[in-house]
Parts: sequence; structure tokens; C-alpha cells
Amino acid sequence: MVPFGAATNQDVDTAVKTASAAQKEWARVPVVERVQPLFKLKQLLEDNREEIARIITTECGKTLVEARGEMQRAIENVEVACGAPMLMQSEFNEDIARGIDEFMIRQPVGVCSCIAPFNFPGMIVFWFLPYAIACGNAFVVKPSEKVPITMMKIFELLDQTGLPDGLVSLVHGGKESVDGLLDHSDVKSVSFVGCSTVARYIYSRATANGKRVQAQGGAKNPVIVLPDADLEMAAKIISDSVYGCAGQRCLAASNIVTVGDDSGNIRDAIIASAESKATGNGLDEAIDMGPVINPESKQRVETLIAQGIEEGATAVLDGRNASIEGHEQGNFVKPTILENVSLEGELVKTEIFGPVMSLIHLKAIEDAIEFVNRGKYGNMACLFTNSGANARAFRNQADAGNIGINIGVAAPMAQFPFSGWKESFFGDLHGQGKHAIEFFTQTKVVVERWPKEWSRKF
Ligand code: NAD
Repeated sequence: MVPFGAATNQDVDTAVKTASAAQKEWARVPVVERVQPLFKLKQLLEDNREEIARIITTECGKTLVEARGEMQRAIENVEVACGAPMLMQSEFNEDIARGIDEFMIRQPVGVCSCIAPFNFPGMIVFWFLPYAIACGNAFVVKPSEKVPITMMKIFELLDQTGLPDGLVSLVHGGKESVDGLLDHSDVKSVSFVGCSTVARYIYSRATANGKRVQAQGGAKNPVIVLPDADLEMAAKIISDSVYGCAGQRCLAASNIVTVGDDSGNIRDAIIASAESKATGNGLDEAIDMGPVINPESKQRVETLIAQGIEEGATAVLDGRNASIEGHEQGNFVKPTILENVSLEGELVKTEIFGPVMSLIHLKAIEDAIEFVNRGKYGNMACLFTNSGANARAFRNQADAGNIGINIGVAAPMAQFPFSGWKESFFGDLHGQGKHAIEFFTQTKVVVERWPKEWSRKF
């Protein structure tokens, strides 16, 4: 695909230099004034939510309900960032030694950048942008070249908020534009979200260039169902998790592990729920699942299904070769369920990023936790149970940054960090909430002494 108006190195340099000049002034604006454009942005996003949702659905394929939900989470991040006057407050010790005060203040980092994936064209940038601006930084966004239009609409709205000219900037393109940001000496931080291979590359190159980096990567999320779970509820939630956004979510459930002697009921309920999903054009309100992003992705997903079958799996539902009336050329893969999946094979380990569920059966919760912790990713792990003791053990022992108990998509609200462990994250501080405030500020500690006669004057 030809990149959408890909930025040249010169374009990237201009965007960063303009941002850098604007940031110097912006850093001196009091934080209570810096959040005022964000209050306006919240209102503008609310007023334009439906239009943005339609753009997202049109360019990315997810359903309108999913696109509206995505923008809701974006707005919530703006709301939390509006609390920056409090979130940025300093720490102060009077008389940390006799006559000496010590305090820590937070100052902006400078020009910050974001490199975003295709699957949430509107939301992911908001894990970072509102916090960066509220903290006194400039911000350069490089959206996915697969979905460039949503961000263009959002930047139209940003232009109406009263932010200084050039403080926020949009550059399009692929690797070349990204490398331009990673190597630019005026870019002080990089917030990346995408697959783990690129996340690792971004982390290595940007940290080698002395930048602070948060790089969120891919996933392969396990969900465990214990025999004491509410099976009807679990089946519905699990199939929503696997097939929502056509499986193109970093928090999509992928490996579903049933535990115990009799897993027949949950298996049947999951199959029934998957079969009930209507696949088609996301702009049609009656549709539950849209297409995958492009023909290459469809082909990749279908190849992985075939590989799973070669490894010994049985296709209970096979969504390959889907043809949707009126959209015969669309990139549709229907809900797929594979069982008897080899635990040693590739299917169980590889992020599919399509509407494919692997059904796995294990004897005990200990085996299930061991299975979770064997995976190379650590984005999310979920457990369905009615036992508090099992839930507690699971949340304590599962090696994943986001844990769901009777939840299928454990997406942290804006107040919490969007966590992620192992190969799902490279860095220290995550997006959203207080982590974002820390990431977008550098701390300065001041130790202060005044002559004795002054400090004891009264
Ligand atoms: P991707 O890694 O292909 O692309 C992400 C961004 O990186 C895009 O802007 C792209 O232009 C850029 N890019 C791609 N290849 C590059 C290269 N070689 N050098 C420099 N830049 C490059 O990811 P995608 O296909 O857009 O998104 C899907 C992936 O994102 C999945 O793996 C998914 O799990 C992951 N994801 C993770 C999270 C999370 O929070 N952990 C959230 C959403 C998506």
C-alpha cells in the first residue's frame, strides 16, 4: 500500500523543530491554564463522536458500537489528564535537615512522540497525548499508514482548542517517518504501540539515542474457565472477547482453557455464541463483527488456521473463505474455533490478530496457570470462576500485566496504567493515568538552605 502522504525526513524535521519552538513557551504556561484546551477538546470529541466513529468504522472495519466505545475511552483519558494540576503536584519536606528544605518538582520533557497501530485509530493516541500536553510538552503523532484519516479529523478538532500553533503535529508514513522521529535529537520521548517485533526495535533504537521509551507490543491472551464458573455468562463474554474487532485487539482472548472433568457444557455454549455472530459491514448496526484490516491480514489469518489444522487441531467452526453478500471482495474471516490444538505447536503461541479461538482442555488450575506463564507475552490473562480463593491465587500468580476475573477484555480505565509484561511491553512506565504523568515529566529535586537568621526570624 502506498503510504498516505508519507512525510519526508524534511517534513519530520520541520514538525519536530516547530514543536520544539512552541514547547518552550508552553512549558511556562501554568498547568491550570494548560488544561483549558483539554476541557475544550473533551467537548469537541463528544460533539463529533459519531462522525469520528463512522470514520473509524469506514477505514478500519470495526463495528460502529466498537468505534463509539473506542472514542469513549479516548474521552476518558482527556478527562483524567485534566486533573494534571493535582497529578503533577510536588513533594516537599520542610527541615529535611536543620534549616534545609528539600522538594521535588515535575518539569516537562520537551518534544514527545507517538507511533500508533491500526487497530484503534482514535483511542490509542489518547493514552499519551492529553497527558503530554497537560504536563507542558509538545507532541508529534505518527498514526498507522493503514488508518490515517481518523487522526486527521482529530487534528481538525485539536486546531479548535486554542493550543499554540505547532505544539501538536501529525506526520504520516511508515518506517522512514518513524526512524526520522527515533533519530531526531529534539525528540525526547517515544510512546509506541504495535507488534512486539517493532516494539523491541523502537525500544532499542530510541533508547540508544537517549530517549525515554514506552513500547507496548503484541499479545496472545489466555482465558481460563473453571468448572464452578457461571458458564452461560462466561461463554458470551469469551466469545465477545475473541471476536470483538474481528480479533484485532491486543486484549482479545485467544487461547481458551477449560479445566476439570466435564467441559462439554462450556464448549457447547461457546460454539453457540460464536455461531450467533453476524459478520459484515461494520456500518450496519445489526452486524457483530467486521472484516480484518486488509487482504494480507486475511491471508495471514487463514494460513495460521491451516497451520493449526496441520498441527493436529480440528476446526469446529472454520471461518475461512467467507463470502459476505454485497462485499464479496471484503477481507472477511468468520468466527473460527479450533480444538485439540497442539500445546507444542505454533498456533498456540503465535498472535493471530483475527477471529480465531483455540480451545484447550487441562486437568487442574495449577496446569492452567503454568500454561499462562509459559507464554512469551504477558498482556492479559483472565479467569472465570465463582471461587474467591482461586481468583486470588490466579491474580497473584499469573504473569500478565492486565488480569480479568470474570472479565473477557481486562482493559484498564484511564485512571490506571495500561499494563503489559514480558514481550508485550518494553520500558518502565505505561500509558494512561499517573504512569503517563510520570513518563511525560522529569523530576527535579531541590535542596535549599537559607541563612539561619532568616529561617529563624519569626
Ligand atoms: P505494527 O507494529 O505493524 O505497526 C505499528 C506502527 O509501527 C505503525 O505506525 C507502523 O507504521 C510502524 N511500523 C511498522 N513497521 C515498522 C518498522 N519496521 N519500523 C518502524 N516502524 C514501523 O502494528 P499494527 O499491525 O499496526 O498493530 C497490531 C499490533 O499492535 C498487534 O501486535 C497488537 O497486539 C499490537 N497492539 C498492542 C497494544 C498494547 O497495548 N499492547 C494495543 C494495540 C495493538
